[in-house]
Amino acid sequence: MNIILLGPPGSGKGTQGALLSARTGHPRVSTGDLLRDAVQAGSPLGQEAQGYMERGLLVPDEVILGLIQEVVDSPEAAQGIIMDGFPRTVAQAEAVDRLLAGRGQAVHAVLTFEVAEDELVTRMLGRAKQEGRSDDTPEAVSQRLAVYRQQTEPLLTHYRERGVVIAIDGVGGIEEIAGRVAGALGV
Ligand code: AMP
Repeated sequence: MNIILLGPPGSGKGTQGALLSARTGHPRVSTGDLLRDAVQAGSPLGQEAQGYMERGLLVPDEVILGLIQEVVDSPEAAQGIIMDGFPRTVAQAEAVDRLLAGRGQAVHAVLTFEVAEDELVTRMLGRAKQEGRSDDTPEAVSQRLAVYRQQTEPLLTHYRERGVVIAIDGVGGIEEIAGRVAGALGV
């Protein structure tokens, strides 16, 4: 199963992706986590990405597409993958489709976690205190939400046409939401 988690920042994608990974045995891959590791390591990828991430902007597709190819084509993902935080643009979605098609697979489901905007902001600013993420400042948070609406939400149209979008109510306890996800996917 190839599953995309496509909610706005703060909607619980990471948490639910980890639980879904444990349940299905498919790896959860987060481009955000990979980029944060690259920034930490000071690698060329990290150096290119850092400024965009701190401002709450998307890292350009030219930089991200290679990373996506690496993770989707990795042996661990051969039986299925849980994509957390990508694709985020139409070009990235097309790349994912092409890479999966290359091994006779497709996207099975796109989960969107529905959470009201004010709740998202509260969650992200709370997380900033706990995790110290440099892009959880009030400015970066509102920028990231705007970028999600403008650049990522339109992908839903791309996937709705194929009938693979599943909307999940993203408000409630972690286990409760995980139950909704498992029920919707039949896993
Ligand atoms: P996330 O942890 O998924 O919220 O990602 C944190 C930040 O990393 C985003 O605000 C972007 O700057 C960058 N990022 C992560 N994934 C992508 C992606 N697929 N395309 C472009 N930028 C990304």
